Amino acid sequence: MKEEGIELIKDGKRLDGRGFEELRPMKIEVGVLKRADGSCYFEIGNNKALAAVYGPREMHPRHLQNAKTAVVTYRYNMAPFSVDDRKRPGPDRRSVEISKVSRDALDPVILTEYYPKTAIDIYVELLQSDAGTRTAGINAASVALADAGIPMRDIVSSVAVGKIDGEVVLDLNAAEDNHGEADMPMAMVTRTGTITMLQMDGRLTKDEFERGLKLATNACREIYELQRTALIEKYSESVGGGEE
Ligand code: ADP
Repeated sequence: MKEEGIELIKDGKRLDGRGFEELRPMKIEVGVLKRADGSCYFEIGNNKALAAVYGPREMHPRHLQNAKTAVVTYRYNMAPFSVDDRKRPGPDRRSVEISKVSRDALDPVILTEYYPKTAIDIYVELLQSDAGTRTAGINAASVALADAGIPMRDIVSSVAVGKIDGEVVLDLNAAEDNHGEADMPMAMVTRTGTITMLQMDGRLTKDEFERGLKLATNACREIYELQRTALIEKYSESVGGGEE
């Protein structure tokens, strides 16, 4: 981020033609993996994220069990072919950090107290990356958890806002992330407005922060509707005898 020298806004539009408050086009599909207890494919712009959820299942090794709650694990992984330059396979500092913040973004809505001594494992694979991958992963994982039948207080939705050429904008793409002034990924329980993740790379004034928060809240409402509709569609199909 913060490489100088690229004009990111021309004639009031962003380089990909979007307005400042516009999300990239999204696609969602529930239950795409047969062997997972729950799964979801989520696409936003050029990001393609696949989430698989397993559990609740007995936690091994047993010394990691929690006697009172399920233990939620989250692994974020970017495929080597997901970016322009091949990414070295395997975990690195960035993916360890993203896995931790994403886990913490979802943990508050999961009723872990229902399943003591168990593990709920979430795997998120990024097949294609174009900035906003942690937020895409959280959106996919949240729906995959619901698809796995894991009791939750609510669904978490996630998006980033940022600042490019002095303007607060929604849902940065990679060029905007690399050349912009700030990037602020967030996750929230849309219905209550409870924020479960907030990170900031770069700087925003208080006013810009508040404007960003408003943009993100509205966008999360849109994402939440998409997540909810996808789940309802899948389960009404199953009940109606459609294809599973
Ligand atoms: P996020 O994807 O959540 O916005 P970052 O801000 O860390 O997270 O990354 C922004 C984008 O930079 C990624 O979506 C990806 O397109 C690119 N990127 C990140 N890490 C690498 C890497 N190791 N190699 C190539 N591109 C990367």
